[in-house]
Amino acid sequence: MEFPKFKYHPDPISTGAIKESDEACECCGKSRGYVYTSNLYTEEDIEFICPWCIADGSAAKKFDGMFSDDHPLQEAGVSEEIISEVCERTPGYNSWQQEVWQAHCGIACEFHGDAEKKELNELEGEALETFLRAEMIKPDVWQNILEHYEKGGNPAVYKFKCTDCSEVIYTMDFT
Ligand SMILES: [Zn+2]
Ligand SMILES: [Zn+2]
Repeated sequence: MEFPKFKYHPDPISTGAIKESDEACECCGKSRGYVYTSNLYTEEDIEFICPWCIADGSAAKKFDGMFSDDHPLQEAGVSEEIISEVCERTPGYNSWQQEVWQAHCGIACEFHGDAEKKELNELEGEALETFLRAEMIKPDVWQNILEHYEKGGNPAVYKFKCTDCSEVIYTMDFT
């Protein structure tokens, strides 16, 4: 069966949200070769869900849960339709704190996982200023963070991309 497409999380294997595994999905009961590794916010104790049960909404429905917090998208004024696709039919992502799904142009962004060190090093001008302002980081502190930055490390920098204008948005997270 073809791997499901997630509009707002285009490559969940490379971001680490989905990994190869022979565990059986607790929603459909099948072992399909892949399981989800990040959060499902539900009252039930669920360990293994396959990407197909994420994509068709059956896992969110069956366990009355969400894969990502919907509040940041609600506050950004994103439509209920898109919020439901991101939070109920899209893999969430692993973060140190509560994840904050980004919005731009009034719609949800695509999640692209941990930023590459190279692209952060190349960040400059207005894009860098916007990022530092949003994260309330002083430029000299940023230089220090950058020096020690590693993908998947602490602090983490996540990359989002607007699905409309293609603007790239970085967010930072640490323990
Ligand atoms: Zn399943
Ligand atoms: Zn945009």
